[in-house]
Amino acid sequence: MTELYFYKDCYLTELTAQVIETGETWVKLNRTLCYPLGGGQPGDTGSLIHSRGTTDIVNTTKQVESADVLHHTDPSLNQVQPTEGETITVQINWQRRHQHMRMHTAMHLLGSLIKFPVTGGQVGAVKSRLDFNLEGVQLDKVLLTEQLNHLIESNVSLIFETITDAELDANPDLVRTMSVQPPRGAGVIRMVRIPEIDYQPCAGTHVANVGEIGEVRVSKIENKGKQNRRVHLVFANAS
Ligand SMILES: [Zn+2]
Repeated sequence: MTELYFYKDCYLTELTAQVIETGETWVKLNRTLCYPLGGGQPGDTGSLIHSRGTTDIVNTTKQVESADVLHHTDPSLNQVQPTEGETITVQINWQRRHQHMRMHTAMHLLGSLIKFPVTGGQVGAVKSRLDFNLEGVQLDKVLLTEQLNHLIESNVSLIFETITDAELDANPDLVRTMSVQPPRGAGVIRMVRIPEIDYQPCAGTHVANVGEIGEVRVSKIENKGKQNRRVHLVFANAS
């Protein structure tokens, strides 16, 4: 199982790692800082710097059967794969990942303002969306934008905690997103606390302080069926 360094420090941009196994279109390492696709957050991109050159990481996913992280490479780029066993450097496409961290954390704030079940969501570097089940409730995108930016301006720092599987089972209301169940099996569940705003299990990557998100804007609220409302979010400085 790949050791996940983004949980130790999600601000790491470079890491030394050993190549465990290579396939035609992927590389497995003993440890990584690349976030694998999951929980509505895209997989990271970056580079593997090794003895035979540099290989682009075009996506990162988790292999279901092994829980190993797969760093996907693209044969059409004609780049040579690293050698099994060698020590290499992994670099992350930091600008893109930092945008994901800002957007993902903004999703927590949005969820705290709309106290209804979350049925889905997708984080992106430019735009994101969160789906709510809220029959009969009207949402105002101007008001939501104001409320979100007010929370962002509070400059509250996030706190990362853990609880046991049993503690989560005893408090099922902590799970806000119906479509994403927290990862179990390790014995402990990672909890994200935004003091006085939000507290829930989450395996994504977050900024250290909500102020780092920067100004955002609710760009659109769509009706997706009778009960579902899809709230779209962009960075305010986006064109
Ligand atoms: Zn999160």
